[in-house]
Amino acid sequence: MRLSETAKIILERRYLRKKADGSRETIEELFYRVSNAVAAAEKMINPQLSSTQVNKIRDTFLQMLTSLDFLPNSPTLMNAGTKLGQLAACFVLPVEDSIEGIFNAVKEAALIQKSGGGTGFSFSRIRPKGAPVTSTGGIASGPLPFIKVFDSAAEAIRQGSARSGANIAVLRVDHPDIKEFISLKSKPGTLRNFNISVGLTKEFMEALENDGFYNLHFNGKVYNRFKAWDVFSLIVEHAWSNGEPGIIFLDRLNEGNPTPALGEIEATNPCAEQPLLPYEACNLGSINLSNMVRNGQVDWGHLAETVEWSVRFLDNVIEINKFPLKKITEMVQSNRKIGLGVMGWADMLFKLRLPYNSNQAVELAEKVMAFIQEKAHAVSSALAEKRGDFPNIDISVYRGQRRRNATCTTIAPTGTISMIAGTSPGIEPVFALVQTRRILDDYAVTQMNPVFEKYLTENFERTTRDRILQEVKRRGSLQQVEGVPEEMKRVFVTAWDISPEWHVRMQAAFQAHCDNAVSKTINLRPTATKEEVRKAFLMAYHLGCKGCTVYRAGTREEDVVVPGACC
Ligand code: ADP
Repeated sequence: MRLSETAKIILERRYLRKKADGSRETIEELFYRVSNAVAAAEKMINPQLSSTQVNKIRDTFLQMLTSLDFLPNSPTLMNAGTKLGQLAACFVLPVEDSIEGIFNAVKEAALIQKSGGGTGFSFSRIRPKGAPVTSTGGIASGPLPFIKVFDSAAEAIRQGSARSGANIAVLRVDHPDIKEFISLKSKPGTLRNFNISVGLTKEFMEALENDGFYNLHFNGKVYNRFKAWDVFSLIVEHAWSNGEPGIIFLDRLNEGNPTPALGEIEATNPCAEQPLLPYEACNLGSINLSNMVRNGQVDWGHLAETVEWSVRFLDNVIEINKFPLKKITEMVQSNRKIGLGVMGWADMLFKLRLPYNSNQAVELAEKVMAFIQEKAHAVSSALAEKRGDFPNIDISVYRGQRRRNATCTTIAPTGTISMIAGTSPGIEPVFALVQTRRILDDYAVTQMNPVFEKYLTENFERTTRDRILQEVKRRGSLQQVEGVPEEMKRVFVTAWDISPEWHVRMQAAFQAHCDNAVSKTINLRPTATKEEVRKAFLMAYHLGCKGCTVYRAGTREEDVVVPGACC
């Protein structure tokens, strides 16, 4: 296998399991363990299959993983074929408006976090601050203090977990406590284990467009009436100051809900790419688009084949997945949601010599994602013919069709798996051509983009190359480097070289062909203005995105990645 040093360090420190004899598995053994466990599902689905047939499928999975054409989300890499066996990254839990309900959710969240999953919660059902508490005759404290309880629990559990814990708290924009919620993370270091997101409603967006007011209500009672613009400005202000809160468009999430008869979608997983019903979970996997380029062209045949095997892989994962809660097992087995996405998009564009911030790139994004989506749906239908439809199909929007999975596509951040694959994360532009990145809590590395490095080697003689490299190591970007061809500058663009509009356009292009949602951070340079944040949020709404997250560099205690070489 061709793995970078970074990939090896991550795998060795976090992913390799202890074997029965106490020794650690090797990286090759890890990929074999995962392929073997996922292929074993074939026999559970079709007991007639011979061992030779199952082994052949295992070898196909193994080839797909070791070539780094496709990787499943981290919990699958860590836990497939182990006793724990929890393979999904995304969960949503309900939080009811009672002490029992709230603390039950704390316990359920603890069990999920221990197994390596990330959890989303809507706190919108908790009565607002000051509302009466019938049983005690007192007054309610509102959702905010309870969010802190969830965070403290997560903090305690992170010590013993393989992953540090990721959670998101969503509050509807019409919940009476919304203003306090928006500023909940304004003090550095608060709610370390939570992201926060405001659930925007259609009613709110309409009031915003008409410069009007909207009601804050709970249980049929109107508590207040705010000017939409004031609340929106507060969101923008806080997002600009440290990236929190993000926004999600609740009505749009529900328009894409394949099983509305089972209830409303109120929350997403932590990075917002996966809207889920309470007690649903979803396992993700991503195709490495950088590997889908041959001779400067998209290799559609190889992509089609990879989609086919990836969907089968992810459907098999549902079969062998072990959840800490029975209710989750039931929901997952009834809807069978999977989330196939992509990583390495920016590297693919580098290889095709297409600037990220160009109409051609946006058009190609639509073409690539539409291709993956159509193929994934076709594979899911074909699997349904052999394996059966997802059990809730008759109460879903797919009634009358064949479908094995209620959803097929999701674009995840691929924060860790893209580092294992040695490619750019998700659909993000590269952060910098040379960057210093914290890859583990106590470990940072300087990384040079491999496609850029190859381009330099192939196109420049040594002295010029060294001069360019020295500059790029200082700045992270090519744009201010003298004596570099214009064409090269246009192609090798980084997150900060690209205006927020192009970030949003790219997110919208992928969203247009994605069952679930797209994880994307609109990465802004330190000097970005509030006006730019406001525009990005509104543009995300107008272009059909399901949410929007921004981050302006330098506004948190420590940035995970910074441009240039550290020393
Ligand atoms: P990976 O690359 O490790 O597979 P992603 O960065 O694609 O993971 O994140 C996918 C999802 O996995 C997130 O949206 C979140 O639900 C979950 N997740 C990510 N990081 C963590 C973490 N540290 N702890 C728990 N869940 C996480």
